[in-house]
Amino acid sequence: MNEHPAFPADLLNQSGINRQHVFNLDALPTEVMATLGNTDGYRQLILLGHGGRHLWECVKACGISGDHPIDDYCRQTVSHWFAGYLPGRRYRMLYPGEQPVGLQQLGTLAGWHQPSPFMVGIDTEWGSWFAYRAALLADTDFLPFLPVDRSSPCKTCQEKPCIAACPANALEGGDFSLQKCIAYRRRTGSKCQFTCLARVDCPVGAEHRYDDEQLRHSYGRSLEDLKKYF
Ligand code: SF4
Ligand code: SF4
Repeated sequence: MNEHPAFPADLLNQSGINRQHVFNLDALPTEVMATLGNTDGYRQLILLGHGGRHLWECVKACGISGDHPIDDYCRQTVSHWFAGYLPGRRYRMLYPGEQPVGLQQLGTLAGWHQPSPFMVGIDTEWGSWFAYRAALLADTDFLPFLPVDRSSPCKTCQEKPCIAACPANALEGGDFSLQKCIAYRRRTGSKCQFTCLARVDCPVGAEHRYDDEQLRHSYGRSLEDLKKYF
């Protein structure tokens, strides 16, 4: 008898939350556990993400407005998912939320994250066109997922067009300068107010590149945060 239920991915996939990874809490490194707060009563951590454009299409189609439509949509979808497919199971949303979860660290453990010169995770399937959408503690008992095994596309990228595409020379020599990037993005007339030209110039996973509206939404929000905090 199989003691682990199958992971019900269909609703998530249809909703654009098409990257999922299940960790057993007792297998997570201590430093990751330290970021999760009180885990009493929970056995697993479920990391959810999106790759490509479908999530944004779903967010627009469902008509959610407000400052954080993607986060609101994902919270709502997770709630429907648990109610419909995991009745009686409890969960606690860590992200989006106040908990300082190390998403890139979890992404690395899941095999999703490989570093890129512009400091956004990259892999050979999606390029850099994916993001973390939710991390939750759950009292589920799925079979934990194995990490996906994808090497970094940057290791074999000879020309590295992303480096030359950055108008601030923030990737010069392959080392990212956050200071140069922020200073350039904040400038009047910056070409990176609503995009990252280096990211857009990377050819890997180009078919999954966000459309202009999604880029504008994501980078517009990050620019507002930069203006607030720097
Ligand atoms: S252009 Fe090359 S080096 Fe730059 S992110 Fe893409 S694969 Fe990596
Ligand atoms: S946002 Fe613009 S300035 Fe910053 S790394 Fe990307 S291309 Fe360079």
